[in-house]
Amino acid sequence: MVNSRSLDDLLPPVRARAQAFLEACEKAGIKLLITSTFRDLESQAALYAQGRTAPGRIVTNARPGKSYHNWRVALDVVPLRDGQAVWSTVGADGKLWEKIGALGEAAGLEWAGRWTTFRELAHFQYTGGLSIDALAAGEIPAEAA
Ligand SMILES: [Zn+2]
Repeated sequence: MVNSRSLDDLLPPVRARAQAFLEACEKAGIKLLITSTFRDLESQAALYAQGRTAPGRIVTNARPGKSYHNWRVALDVVPLRDGQAVWSTVGADGKLWEKIGALGEAAGLEWAGRWTTFRELAHFQYTGGLSIDALAAGEIPAEAA
């Protein structure tokens, strides 16, 4: 069961954007913790079970194979303040998340903070326009955006 936090487990065009994103945040004085990059199908199944057939609250609507994390094109981050993860999204914390989202977009990533369904401030991805089904079939996002 793999639930990686390493950028090395992302596809190269995604990894390059993620690295640029992290560098831009660092320059802006924002420290990020990567909480997830690649998740294998077994790990996704365990996550999907949480809050359904296993204890805990529901944390994903994606079944195994239906998360972009399963295809190495997504990462989740959380900002750190004084070494503590900032999960709050209100007031100044909301502004911080907005800034992080904008820096991710400037680095060529898609930010799930803009999504109207399943909006997720922590989630960034680069699919090169490919669908989950195309990625599952082995297609790989192009190097150039
Ligand atoms: Zn995510």
